[in-house]
Amino acid sequence: MKIFCKKFCVLFFLNIVLFFAGCAEDDSTEYTLYPDNTNLYFRKLFPNDQAQNDSAAAYLAHGITLIVHPQATYQLSFDVDPNFEAPTLQLFRLVLSEDQTEWYPYKVRSIEPTIDHGRYVYSFMCEENAQTDWATSLELDETYYKGRVSNIRLTGDGAYSDHFSINMILVGNIEQEIEDFTIDELASNLLKEFRKQYTSVTIDTIYINHAAKHPTLGKKYPANEPWLAGYSSKDHFLSELGGWPGIENALDIVFVHYINDEGVLGYSNLFSGNLGKGIGSTVVLGTHVKAPYGEEAVSMKDIVETALHETGHFFGLRHTTTTIADIEYIIDNYDFGDYSNIEDGLDDTPRCNGKTRWALLKVSKTDINAALPRIYVSSNASNSDLSNCPDASNYMFPTIVNGKELSFSKQQLEIIRKSLMIYPH
Ligand SMILES: [Zn+2]
Repeated sequence: MKIFCKKFCVLFFLNIVLFFAGCAEDDSTEYTLYPDNTNLYFRKLFPNDQAQNDSAAAYLAHGITLIVHPQATYQLSFDVDPNFEAPTLQLFRLVLSEDQTEWYPYKVRSIEPTIDHGRYVYSFMCEENAQTDWATSLELDETYYKGRVSNIRLTGDGAYSDHFSINMILVGNIEQEIEDFTIDELASNLLKEFRKQYTSVTIDTIYINHAAKHPTLGKKYPANEPWLAGYSSKDHFLSELGGWPGIENALDIVFVHYINDEGVLGYSNLFSGNLGKGIGSTVVLGTHVKAPYGEEAVSMKDIVETALHETGHFFGLRHTTTTIADIEYIIDNYDFGDYSNIEDGLDDTPRCNGKTRWALLKVSKTDINAALPRIYVSSNASNSDLSNCPDASNYMFPTIVNGKELSFSKQQLEIIRKSLMIYPH
């Protein structure tokens, strides 16, 4: 467990100062108010997320985490509380201790707000070299701001292009196991649908690579057996395959035989933020799905739809109607989930209400924290209920519903574009 540390080790602090010398820093004569929320790492705000995020608002003064990317410009805003003076926003870089067990805050800067239409607006730029977590505090009269913080928003504009390429990574004996189509057909369909639906960005090309032929990791991924993500490898995402040599900045979509969680077609982390390598750099999909007894082949149409859905999460889209699996975030028997985030917060995506909504909320949790699954619901009564949901024809509906022509909304497409331009590539 990574717990934020309230003690500041002098030697370690010195190391950080030396290491980060040269970054834009604050005026050291200013009062520094360190965050005191020991669970700040579990209360995060992602750029351009429109969900309610009441939990982040409630803890902003005492410390939450902002996810920031190199060279992007940000605005953090919330409603003015007329009963208090304007607070100063203090930002801290979170640095993990050498034994990787504790976080240390290192002050980056203090910012005074401007006021726009009754809201405090704090503008800043991120000069980091990679995606970084920054912690917050709100200071007024050398203590934590006591005013009300409501309708919090973090918006970001990136410095990178609105183009990307897709890299399909085939793991195990995928080609032998698929029956109704070929990998070339899948690749060409995938590219066609991405270009048709992801209209706010440009997809340059699609690559096909085999994990068995990876120059350094190939031996770990034999080409003659089915690969079961979460069983053949502990890491469902096979993150080490992301950032493929020679095409390091493509979107890596990893294809396995199936994901070892019943009914799960694909996984992505929400706001993965990583078009390079390492954790968060991959989306994983099965060509088959684990069923109560054995497995079922997934149609090419459903694989392609799931690829577009999971990539939506990768670029910051939430489900139009949430499931409990989206919200619940249990650490040491305590649920850090923000239950105000019951929908995506977008004006142009409807959400499912009534009985069916409760059915969706029961979609059970999987083993992976913060990863969003797409669930396969076989054709039965619940499927016909789901198809009545007004958002069932949106790509970000959490389950597959048969017989729907899917699309993204205008606001979803705008988030995809903004996220792509924030992610270094
Ligand atoms: Zn999903």
